[in-house]
Amino acid sequence: MRETKEDIKPVAANELPPEFKKFDKPLGVEQHVYNQILVLYMTHTCILITVLYYLPFGIVSPWTIVPLIVYGYIGGLGITVGCHRYWTHKTFKANKPLQVIMMLMQTVSMQYPIFKWCRDHRVHHKYTDTDADPHNATRGFWFSHIGWLFLPKHPEVEDKLKIIDISDLARDPIVRFQSKYYWQLVPIVFYIVPMILFQWMFPELTLFQNFVLQHVRYGVSLHFTFFVNSLAHMWGDKPYDKEISSSENALVSFLAAGEGWHNYHHTFPWDYKAAEFGYKINVSTMFIHFFAMIGWAYDLKTVSHQLLVDRINRTGDGSHPLFNHAHVHDKTPINNDHKHSETSLPAWGWGDKALSKDDVVITETLFTSKRRG
Ligand SMILES: [Zn+2]
Ligand SMILES: [Zn+2]
Repeated sequence: MRETKEDIKPVAANELPPEFKKFDKPLGVEQHVYNQILVLYMTHTCILITVLYYLPFGIVSPWTIVPLIVYGYIGGLGITVGCHRYWTHKTFKANKPLQVIMMLMQTVSMQYPIFKWCRDHRVHHKYTDTDADPHNATRGFWFSHIGWLFLPKHPEVEDKLKIIDISDLARDPIVRFQSKYYWQLVPIVFYIVPMILFQWMFPELTLFQNFVLQHVRYGVSLHFTFFVNSLAHMWGDKPYDKEISSSENALVSFLAAGEGWHNYHHTFPWDYKAAEFGYKINVSTMFIHFFAMIGWAYDLKTVSHQLLVDRINRTGDGSHPLFNHAHVHDKTPINNDHKHSETSLPAWGWGDKALSKDDVVITETLFTSKRRG
């Protein structure tokens, strides 16, 4: 199963389709400068106006929070289910209508096109906690949370973005379509559709207030996503692998629709639940199950329970109830040489050629279907 280096054909930056290339400088601006303008100044100013003026002085109805949460969730699930579990890690398959729905939901989140988000995230999984990790948590809470978006990329990150394999995304017509028409789709699904809905629900809103509220939705959902990179890489138990920084964090799971079970996720990134337990604070898994039940999602990858227990006993920190404390542990430190060898780095997901035979063997597939989509 393990391939030689020659068999791995990464897509170099200069081989990317033109739809992808234009996003290395969004709208012609350096990415960190663009982020500073859009996210840091504009969005956070909108949050401050709402929290310090609109809500306490009754300028906008507190009931506007309800559609903000609902529409925020639509974008959030576009990230957690679509961008993360489907396109980055390939944990399940989806028919074309579901792919289109997930693509539009991901556009609602305005976290850059799918390919760009996935490329960063695959690099994060492969080079976690090193200089090549885009949001390297060893550089502190603020860097991993949001600072990484406002600073020029570390040269190691630039290098790895060029070699990480995203050839599957470069071949995906829906991913390419989204990149090609991204700046046409964003105004429609991020501004026009929700603003019409808000105006209909709250006719007293001015256009400016409506615009500000959309950025509140954006900013809050961004922070909830960012907690996965910051809080879930700092605080929590490590029942599956004590050698990595990612941790089990229930608060992050609550805020990020089930993405806080992060020690499990980094140990088994190809599991569609991104957690050991299906419905335990995990709205994203419920979403996938719903579409699996109607036949739109299928071939859901998960990890066999018995083999999971072996892993808990071998590399866990002892916090898991099934951890066998009588087990005599090998005291030799876990070999971290993989951090220096490109061919034996952790796999980013199911499609990664670096996925080991052992990991394939412990994987089970649910809702299998021979031919769909
Ligand atoms: Zn992570
Ligand atoms: Zn991930």
